[in-house]
Amino acid sequence: MISIIIPCYNEEEAIPLFYKEINKTIKEMKVPFELIFVNDGSKDRTLEILRGLAKKDKKVRYISFSRNFGKEAGILAGFEAAKGDYVAMMDVDLQDPPYLLKEMYETLQDENVDCVATRSVSRNGYSFFRKIFTKWYYKIINTISKTPIVDGARDFRLMKRKMVDAILSLKEYNRYSKGIFSWVGFNTKWITFENTERVAGTTKWNFWKLFAYSMESIIGFSTMPLLVSSVVGVLFCLISFIMIIVIITKTLTIGDPVAGWPSLVCIIFFVSGVQLFCLGIIGQYLAKTYLEVKNRPVYIIKETENDL
Ligand code: UDP
Ligand code: MG
Repeated sequence: MISIIIPCYNEEEAIPLFYKEINKTIKEMKVPFELIFVNDGSKDRTLEILRGLAKKDKKVRYISFSRNFGKEAGILAGFEAAKGDYVAMMDVDLQDPPYLLKEMYETLQDENVDCVATRSVSRNGYSFFRKIFTKWYYKIINTISKTPIVDGARDFRLMKRKMVDAILSLKEYNRYSKGIFSWVGFNTKWITFENTERVAGTTKWNFWKLFAYSMESIIGFSTMPLLVSSVVGVLFCLISFIMIIVIITKTLTIGDPVAGWPSLVCIIFFVSGVQLFCLGIIGQYLAKTYLEVKNRPVYIIKETENDL
């Protein structure tokens, strides 16, 4: 059986379109399916639509959260609920084309392949700003993190049970799926496709949300920023040491009329800035650690198809 996890947040318009498309693929494939929709605290009619689908179609299951917990929480809930031998995850907005599932499933019949993942080659529909930001983000994270993050990788992928169990064994609270998929290893085959615009509704990500998400992934998968702040500290100590020697020699040889107040102020400002910046980096890691040790559940379920 193939389980498909579909996180949904305010997707009343997209769900019926998605359901129609995926059913076409399911009919062609002749493999048992289960569709696990995760309602991530939607404020529109998403839940009603899901209830309706689950009532009339036995392969439709749904998990409804008590509030919006974010897409990562939705993905985890789906993974935990999935019963299939193969598990896929995809967006409901048809930006991940369902017809690819067939090719992905066939590729997985090769016993050396554990996962088939997709990446989009183009960034159609991205704003100019987002394109530049995305490009730099991948450059930076791949330089500083040991876990490779593939440029343009989408969350759309199909994997075998073994890999799913490995992913579920990672119990962290701050979850970044792209990193987790890469971290667990296994043999992943990539297929590419052209990015398309969503069929209905609007994107749930604005620039700041994306920015915060990317920062989270850097903190989650690299401790390099901490190293950078230590290096900056050492560098500043060296510079100040050289300056001390220069000033002492200057005073002893040519004497020192009191001067240099403006430069002193500049240096104080600069150095305190660097200090605060480095403290901020430590603070970010501390904050994540704090959230991690609190050990709160990643999501809370309010209703599932069993409550119908
Ligand atoms: N989503 C979610 N919870 C959120 C935000 C988004 O479950 O808090 C879902 C959303 O319904 C969609 C998928 O995650 O199925 C991807 O979201 P979107 O299409 O808005 O992202 P984009 O494709 O623009 O990156
Ligand atoms: Mg989308």
